[in-house]
Amino acid sequence: MPRFVSTATAAASRQAHSYLLAGTPASRFAALPAGCRGKATLSGSNVKTPAFAFDMDGVLIRGGKALPNARRALEKLRGDNPQNKEIPFIVLTNSGGESEASKAEKLSRKLGLKIDESQFIISSTPMRTLVPKHRNDLVHVVGPHACKALAQKYGFKNVLTSREIRDWNRHAWPFHVRGDEHPQEPAPHDLANTPVGAILIMHDPPDWGLDIQLIMDLLLSHRGDVTTRRNPLSVAESLSSSSSSDPGLPPIPLYSSNADFLWANEHPHPRLGQGGFLAALRGVWAQMVDDPAAQLPITTQFGKPSAPTYDYAKRVLGDGVVGGVDAVGDVYMIGDNPESDIRGANANGWVGVLVETGVYKHGDALDGGRKPAVVVKDVEAAVDWVLEKEGVLN
Ligand SMILES: [Mg+2]
Repeated sequence: MPRFVSTATAAASRQAHSYLLAGTPASRFAALPAGCRGKATLSGSNVKTPAFAFDMDGVLIRGGKALPNARRALEKLRGDNPQNKEIPFIVLTNSGGESEASKAEKLSRKLGLKIDESQFIISSTPMRTLVPKHRNDLVHVVGPHACKALAQKYGFKNVLTSREIRDWNRHAWPFHVRGDEHPQEPAPHDLANTPVGAILIMHDPPDWGLDIQLIMDLLLSHRGDVTTRRNPLSVAESLSSSSSSDPGLPPIPLYSSNADFLWANEHPHPRLGQGGFLAALRGVWAQMVDDPAAQLPITTQFGKPSAPTYDYAKRVLGDGVVGGVDAVGDVYMIGDNPESDIRGANANGWVGVLVETGVYKHGDALDGGRKPAVVVKDVEAAVDWVLEKEGVLN
């Protein structure tokens, strides 16, 4: 008995999945609105559907171009396999700074295969889960300007950028920042009367100094009122003791989308990532509260390898399966980075499949939580290994 029941025959699947972008229908799993998509279905109540999560850089693309076999690998999950099975997959990446739709469109063009924005999870995407809690709060969004529109798209109604905080009071950071060459805009919020409810670091900030200063101001404020300042030692005490006498505890929530310290681009040496910014922020915080060991009060850290991102990703995969997330069986994380992709997979009950087309090089040490289930040469070999294991190639 097949482990999955395809929603289409191979021929119909290939026809429906005209993968090129020229206005053709895309995968029923990918392109139709949730609720009317074709969904991977089960052949029995005890049979679960496997699912895939692909890292992007070093797995599907490298240096801005599609890697060989990447398209072929994904076609196999769209029904081009001996059992005509459609198997749900997502792209799970720590990149960000632009919308999922924009990322999906760029990747689709590179691959020549439609990836829907609903299949794309960037580092900030799981911040959608914060909307019910902070929907009506004024939230300070840290990152490139595009993050403002992205936060609004997620559902945050009142979004404030660092630039807008500084427009409200230029003395907050009395140094040149990007945009100073343009006429000053009127501040959209009177921060003397509107407290900030949360800080969202959605992507690498373009002006570290400005953002470190503003985040410090907010963490040390009384309930997000930037006109106030609490004693830093009192704030630190509020974080370490439940018996603090300070009624203003704790600081407003601070959320971060990505903790990667380094990342690679065309430069010969790794570049500082959002984790580098967090390290700088942590250093200033430790000095501010006079405790070298003080940790930054991050409410939730998102991005691989953190659990909230893996939990969110599994729920998204469940949206493509009849029976929902409970019907999702093994989730296979196909990644090139043992530290994020594989460590996260292992820590969250997924199966880590490591490819040799990116960060990891054949022979590199793989110890502890960074040890994958298997190492394969590329993404197509990874898909083949899983399909063989799941009995789909039989
Ligand atoms: Mg990668």
